[in-house]
Amino acid sequence: MPGKLYVLTTPIGNLKDITLRAIEILKSVDFLVVEDTRVTLKLLNHLGLKKPMFSYFRHSNPEKLDLILQKLQSGETAAIISDAGTPCISDPGEELVKACIEHGIKLEPIPGANAALSALVASGLNTTRFCFEGFLPMNKKNRTVRLRKLQQEERTIIFYEAPHKLISTLKDMQQTFGGERKICIARELTKIHEQFLRFCLAQAVEYFEHEQPKGEFVLVLEGAREIQDEKLSEADIIKEAQKLQKTGKSKTEIAKELAEKSTLSKREIYNLLHS
Ligand code: SAM
Repeated sequence: MPGKLYVLTTPIGNLKDITLRAIEILKSVDFLVVEDTRVTLKLLNHLGLKKPMFSYFRHSNPEKLDLILQKLQSGETAAIISDAGTPCISDPGEELVKACIEHGIKLEPIPGANAALSALVASGLNTTRFCFEGFLPMNKKNRTVRLRKLQQEERTIIFYEAPHKLISTLKDMQQTFGGERKICIARELTKIHEQFLRFCLAQAVEYFEHEQPKGEFVLVLEGAREIQDEKLSEADIIKEAQKLQKTGKSKTEIAKELAEKSTLSKREIYNLLHS
């Protein structure tokens, strides 16, 4: 019977963020599939555990993948672990997960810390609808194209960024989304120097022109304003019209004025006021 692969989340800074279930699974599995053996060794030492480790990164050679699959198919259990946080989220794992599905090997996620969600929940921006963009492309042209595609995105957008690219990314964002757009920059989450900087893009650019970015960053960007939200609903139109009528304005004048603030035409509003 084939074994099982656990997709196991580790802390993103604070080692206390390992879950009880993650420790249990780390103890029980036959081997670990890790991004960097040195990083995982630190975690294992902290937990007082010893396990065989196989290093595996995105686009590892096919023989490596085959070896891991063979072991799993022979009934062994393993956990895939990245250097920090949730595997497969801007980290290796996706190819191995797909291969396990193809080979009938069971998968089980062991959830825990993730930088994107930790930043989002304390950002103060809209958490009802959001999307994750991860790292922007390295190539300048591709970055610009990707950002342009996001210009009309109404959901809150989450990005990962390296410190040495932060300023140029913020400048590109200011150019694409305008200086007024809100951003929350979450730095060193769960670590001693954790910090949340809540700015508009123009202020963020100015701040980092004087302050050298250090540490790890998540950028949580406000989505484009929903046009519908800013327009008056039918009920609002009627209320507004009643107020305007008291000022002595005619229905034609009122319809014209309110059409500019709603998605309805002048005629539709005029008819509404007569219904
Ligand atoms: N798999 C990880 C997760 O679940 O969040 C993300 C790994 S990705 C290679 C690393 C990037 O995640 C960093 O460059 C940074 O943008 C973000 N990140 C990871 N840990 C962080 C932390 N403690 N504080 C802020 N950002 C962090």
